[in-house]
Amino acid sequence: MPLTPIAEGRTTFRGATLIDGVAATPVPDSEVVVRDGVVEYAGPRRALAADDAGRIVELSGTWLMPGFVDVHVHLAMVPAPPEQQRAWFPEEAVLEVAAQLRATLEAGVTTARDLDGLTPGYRLAVQNGTAIGPRLHLAIAMLSPTGGHADPFLPNGSLPAWAVRAGMPEPGLVDTDDDVVRTVRRLIRMGADAIKVSTSGGSGSPTDEPEDVGITEEQVRLICRLADERGRRPVTAHALTDAAARAAVLGGAGSIEHGYDLSDDTIQLMIDRGTVLVPTLSTLMREIGPQVAPERRRERERMRARGMDSVRRAIAAGVPVALGTDAGVVPHGANLRELARLVDAGLAPIRAIRAGTAVGADLLGIGDRVGSVVAGKMADLVVTDADPLASIERLGEPGAVRMVVQSGRVVIDHDRRSA
Ligand SMILES: [Zn+2]
Repeated sequence: MPLTPIAEGRTTFRGATLIDGVAATPVPDSEVVVRDGVVEYAGPRRALAADDAGRIVELSGTWLMPGFVDVHVHLAMVPAPPEQQRAWFPEEAVLEVAAQLRATLEAGVTTARDLDGLTPGYRLAVQNGTAIGPRLHLAIAMLSPTGGHADPFLPNGSLPAWAVRAGMPEPGLVDTDDDVVRTVRRLIRMGADAIKVSTSGGSGSPTDEPEDVGITEEQVRLICRLADERGRRPVTAHALTDAAARAAVLGGAGSIEHGYDLSDDTIQLMIDRGTVLVPTLSTLMREIGPQVAPERRRERERMRARGMDSVRRAIAAGVPVALGTDAGVVPHGANLRELARLVDAGLAPIRAIRAGTAVGADLLGIGDRVGSVVAGKMADLVVTDADPLASIERLGEPGAVRMVVQSGRVVIDHDRRSA
């Protein structure tokens, strides 16, 4: 697993209410001891021994949680108009992405999975400590047929302004099985940690509609096999329709992104196979701006109603859910707003926190190292002054996250508690 620089020595975080990401109830007045980047003890506060060496960080009146995992972001989608981006020097584009990495970390996300658009140089920069940001897992590019959701080309063969940016990976356009094999192996050679496919069309891509067919069930099966050739890599599928979700689940994908039209049959299939749903409700439920044409607006409202109903039924039936925001489509740095959305869709607050920590880490295949505050795991911690169980919506507000620890290193400390 890609690491981040580790804090050496021993630090004790004392007095916070601990929500560890796995237990059903919090631990009041807790103690978390971190040694060389790894949690050594997490539980009720103990009496201080005379020889207790190391730093002590007092956290009474706060809540301590695992660092969050956002399993669906697009950090290369930055908040600047495409025309402006076309005039940028390459380094302006890179530094803009670095600013979004930092904003995401500040929001409490210590691990993020980028599902299209980010190249491995960013992952290495975070790993080496050159850039501050979430530990990154990358799909690099997304796979779809020509004319599908991954295809940026306009009918006349030119690229729209948003697709002309320095450092963008090549689009993953695949039609034949040979294309699939070559593209997946190239992505793995380049350093992909996960493979993302589009089994339906999308909205926002130039020449397809959500109802269009994407990668087929047979090709998903082939991709899953290729993804396991050299180590195991999770395969996830963008799927807006029920048929697309079914193709992905039957083909063996470990998770479904969006899933706004799931039938009860497909929901049962997901439960049987343990397929995780990443509903990206932040993006589904985002404000519809006044610039959106009335017909498009009605379409969006229909998708919202159908999508929310689909996700509610999936959650009620017991489909495992992981936190993903599709940030980039919505602003970066507000990732934890998704927690309140998940609660709206039927998860209890403590289960929403688990969706954003342990479940996400397991989905990425790193659950043995991150995603909970228990002895032996890497010390990724988030401290907030808002009670997540009483008012989970506050975690998404700017400034609610006061401290972020990554691999034992205090990377954000607004109250200078660790000074
Ligand atoms: Zn996305």
